Amino acid sequence: MKTLKVALLGAGNVGSQVARILLEDADALAARTGARLELVGIAVRNVDAPRDVQAPRELYTTDASALVRGADIVIELMGGIEPARTLILEAIEHGATVVTGNKALLAVDGPTLYEKADAAGVQLSYEAAVAGAIPILRPITDSLAGDKITRVMGIVNGTTNFILDAMDSTGAEFADALAEATRLGYAEADPTADIEGHDAAAKGAILASLAFHTRFALEDVNCQGITSVTAGDIAAAKDAGYVIKLLAIAEKLDGGVSVRVHPTLIPREHPLGAVRGAFNAVFVEAESAGELMFYGRGAGGSPTASAVMGDVVSAARRLVLGGPGRTDSTIEVLPVLPIDAVTTRYYIGMDAADQPGVLSKIAALFAENGVSIETMRQTVHRDENENGGPATAELRIVTHRASEAALAATVEAIKGLDIINSVTSVLRVEGV
Ligand code: NAP
Repeated sequence: MKTLKVALLGAGNVGSQVARILLEDADALAARTGARLELVGIAVRNVDAPRDVQAPRELYTTDASALVRGADIVIELMGGIEPARTLILEAIEHGATVVTGNKALLAVDGPTLYEKADAAGVQLSYEAAVAGAIPILRPITDSLAGDKITRVMGIVNGTTNFILDAMDSTGAEFADALAEATRLGYAEADPTADIEGHDAAAKGAILASLAFHTRFALEDVNCQGITSVTAGDIAAAKDAGYVIKLLAIAEKLDGGVSVRVHPTLIPREHPLGAVRGAFNAVFVEAESAGELMFYGRGAGGSPTASAVMGDVVSAARRLVLGGPGRTDSTIEVLPVLPIDAVTTRYYIGMDAADQPGVLSKIAALFAENGVSIETMRQTVHRDENENGGPATAELRIVTHRASEAALAATVEAIKGLDIINSVTSVLRVEGV
């Protein structure tokens, strides 16, 4: 039986679980691949640090570069940009197959890595980079290869889903839900990449690239995070039968593709509406297959190691059987459409004076800008009036489909009305 040398870069949350599987399941992996997967070394920063997995001490090394040069398969689970990028490029140069879960690196420099791997004829796989354990990239590239994908909508960031779910179920404000997520270990000490939507955008770019056979970069993604979502928005959405989720959406439209990340109202009965806590899910619409949903754990050492090992087994089978590496299809060159090209339904929250004629003035502005109202709800706050202040009305409006430009013009006009105290939120509605 052939032996394939496997180099593991990193033994943290995910790497330690990958090492465990390689060591514990060696016989099963050999039976499935037709080759023995020999773990030849594990590159770390500190060889003496305590580890979650019992691997022979002599496997640990700080010389990642030497490890890469002697391997058939390199598994990069260090994270970060450098030295991960240089090591992956070195692996490609030496003809090694590369498996990584490094979404941050793919977002920053994916195109260079894909091109280098294509040119060298080696396989670069990264199933773990999107939605952790959920098999989503291979279904898009292989299982749906004979279909035409029209839209992909994903809850691909567990931290933000945990926060929004906590706000939905407890009525908490964003800051309190974030504090709880941090306390429970769902949010990092610096949560910026999650709550500002950057992590979801990196995954959105990967999903869009594979679904639409065109390479999209992080900067092609129109991105809005969840920091401005209020308990009031969540309550109003709930009241109207919606739940707010941070969605990464990649959609084929006339003339191109729109890739965006934003907090979105979706009907509570939509499959994505049932995704609770830190779970992830990706909802795919394809011409022939119709609607498909992929659901599971989006992070965690063991779940993510499952996705990594799927790539490793697939790579090992190819190395045993021969044939060219699988490369991502880039047969299309579809332009990225500006956000103005997208039409969606909108939810607008505003505080207005509680006076006769307010609703008709607001409705008239929507009509003037060609935006049609589907539902309008008003809650009057009388307490302030009893305390001597003027009564205010909280208005929550859901529109029919409108363009970003028409909606923006409507909101600007509304802000100019003297009866409006503030426009508190403008969110998109999907899945209806
Ligand atoms: P982690 O716990 O921080 O582990 C990183 C490992 O890499 C550590 O063992 C560290 O060594 C080693 N390392 C870092 N820099 C190094 C360097 N310069 N030289 C040698 N070794 C170095 O990270 P993780 O959570 O396992 O994540 C690994 C990758 O998987 C990241 O790209 C991440 O985005 C991706 N991913 C993670 C998850 C998840 O749930 N954690 C989910 C999906 C994707 P020491 O132990 O000696 O410090």
